[in-house]
Amino acid sequence: MTSFCCKLCFRDFTTFQKLLTHERNKHKHNKMVPHFYLLVQPSPEQMSYYIDSFIVLVKKKLGFSRHAVGKRRLSIETFPEHVFVYLFKDEETFKYSPTIHKYQCYFEGYSGATRLKQIFQYDHWDFRQHPLTNTKGYVLLEDYENKYQVKFTWSQTILSENNRKFMLGRMSCNFVADSGEFQEK
Ligand SMILES: [Zn+2]
Repeated sequence: MTSFCCKLCFRDFTTFQKLLTHERNKHKHNKMVPHFYLLVQPSPEQMSYYIDSFIVLVKKKLGFSRHAVGKRRLSIETFPEHVFVYLFKDEETFKYSPTIHKYQCYFEGYSGATRLKQIFQYDHWDFRQHPLTNTKGYVLLEDYENKYQVKFTWSQTILSENNRKFMLGRMSCNFVADSGEFQEK
């Protein structure tokens, strides 16, 4: 009989669905990555390669008109798991689901904006300035009314064919874009 074991507390379940429900109830905010020892620390070159790619894609989603406002989503179709884990593992909101092999991490408000500048080592990652006016398109994290999230997710697609497993890791990012005029200080 097949059984499904929780990788976090080693309890056995008769179905995958029961394991999933257990994980959602008991390990909702899990940060532990049981296979962490298999994830090699990425080189600084590799880290900056993926950070740069992310910044380019964010900026492509930003614009200056009214149409540039609202929810945005971007994804990098081949994003290594270890790069994602090493980027976000120390964050308070980092969480991992071993059952579905999925990571999440989000940043919120001014404190989130500050933290992302540190992680990406670039203060200007989240906006684009119009070349002729004072208009900026930017990632919205907080305004006078609300706080907004920038949410990162990593998940995997597996294709089985001819006794081989092909794996694809994808990083997605959801955020809110806004635009407005800013006076130069
Ligand atoms: Zn468990």
